[in-house]
Amino acid sequence: MATINDNYLKLAGSYLFAEIGRRVAAFKEANPQADIIRLGIGDVTQPLPAACIEAMHKAVDELSHAETFRGYGPEQGYSFLTDAIIENNYTKRGISIDSDEIFVSDGSKSDCGNIQEIFGLNNKVAITDPVYPVYLDTNVMAGRTGTLQADGHFEGVTYLPCDASNNFAPALPKEHVDMIYLCCPNNPTGTTLSRAELKKWVDYARENQSVILFDAAYAAYITEEDVPRSIYEIEGAKDVAIEFRSFSKTAGFTGTRCGYTIIPKTVKGRAADGTLVEFNKLWNRRHTTKFNGTAYIVQRGAAAIYTPEGQQQVKELVGYYMENARIIREGLEAAGITAYGGVNAPYIWLKTPNNMSSWDFFDKLLTEVNIVGTPGAGFGPCGEGYFRLTAFGDRENTLRAVDRIKTKLRF
Ligand SMILES: *Cc1c(COP(=O)(O)O)cnc(C)c1O
Repeated sequence: MATINDNYLKLAGSYLFAEIGRRVAAFKEANPQADIIRLGIGDVTQPLPAACIEAMHKAVDELSHAETFRGYGPEQGYSFLTDAIIENNYTKRGISIDSDEIFVSDGSKSDCGNIQEIFGLNNKVAITDPVYPVYLDTNVMAGRTGTLQADGHFEGVTYLPCDASNNFAPALPKEHVDMIYLCCPNNPTGTTLSRAELKKWVDYARENQSVILFDAAYAAYITEEDVPRSIYEIEGAKDVAIEFRSFSKTAGFTGTRCGYTIIPKTVKGRAADGTLVEFNKLWNRRHTTKFNGTAYIVQRGAAAIYTPEGQQQVKELVGYYMENARIIREGLEAAGITAYGGVNAPYIWLKTPNNMSSWDFFDKLLTEVNIVGTPGAGFGPCGEGYFRLTAFGDRENTLRAVDRIKTKLRF
């Protein structure tokens, strides 16, 4: 009989969102009149920018004529898109990225998840706690970890605790690690790393010959000057960092699907025979073998965010969500709740009042004010006692939810 990849059996199951769904369904069944507002979603709600829609309509028309039809494109992405990305997100910020250092994809979840394939199985992985689950689960699947322990941690993984006591900036690990996943601005905490904090990690990676896997999916939400938009703003990062970006949160592409990964040719790892090999070469090999390119229509839509109209529309879209974030954060503070994030990210990470557990707070919010959020404990043991609200709702519901928290929630 065929055997399975037993590593999959080590996974903890998709408990978090299943359990949220179960509790909400039970509450609805018992309280059919309840007007439930969802501030738990990690998905955008507002329509695509008009410039993207227009570009995609035009691309569809091109595909309808033999003279302008396009079949398979370059796996790494069309140059009309990669040139625009490099110019706008890197060159303009003083970072030089070559055209063969960028790989367009169908979104950065796949890239963050697949990247570990080009690393040896004996690498030691470091992740933050709490964490976006993709980094951890894909390493479990690959067999780079032991089993799940009673404390909620996988054996063999280095966890970097992030909570209010360290201002959500992880301390350097005491032991040596090879692969370091950092997400900034952070999902779920909505917090960021300053230039100085990030430099600490780049220096660590350079000294330890580690690679930083830097997820900048929320870069467009940064408002403060001291927060780097790209890890390559930090001196020396081009030798040690791979960066992931996405159009999902920037331009509402969660359903349209487009992202990209930057792998500078200077980022290298050691082969079994001791030679140094560019990760860029390996990823190019993987990408061209396992991926056949992002849809032409979608790449045209993505490129449109770099037109003057597109830039303005994206700014408005991000501004809309960030106004929601401000409303949520200030509303929580007015209700006497300590809140983090929401300034450079569309997530607000609140400290549960009276040391309630994340799930007790979930139940309280659901039953007393009919609001659904996400328990922090679902993102890792250090998320216990915290709770995530998102700014991705529409304005009206956000205002209604915050009003309920301010006027009806009692401790
Ligand atoms: C939403 C998100 C992404 C982007 O995912 P896509 O696959 O591009 O939609 C990446 N990383 C984090 C942490 C996210 O929250």
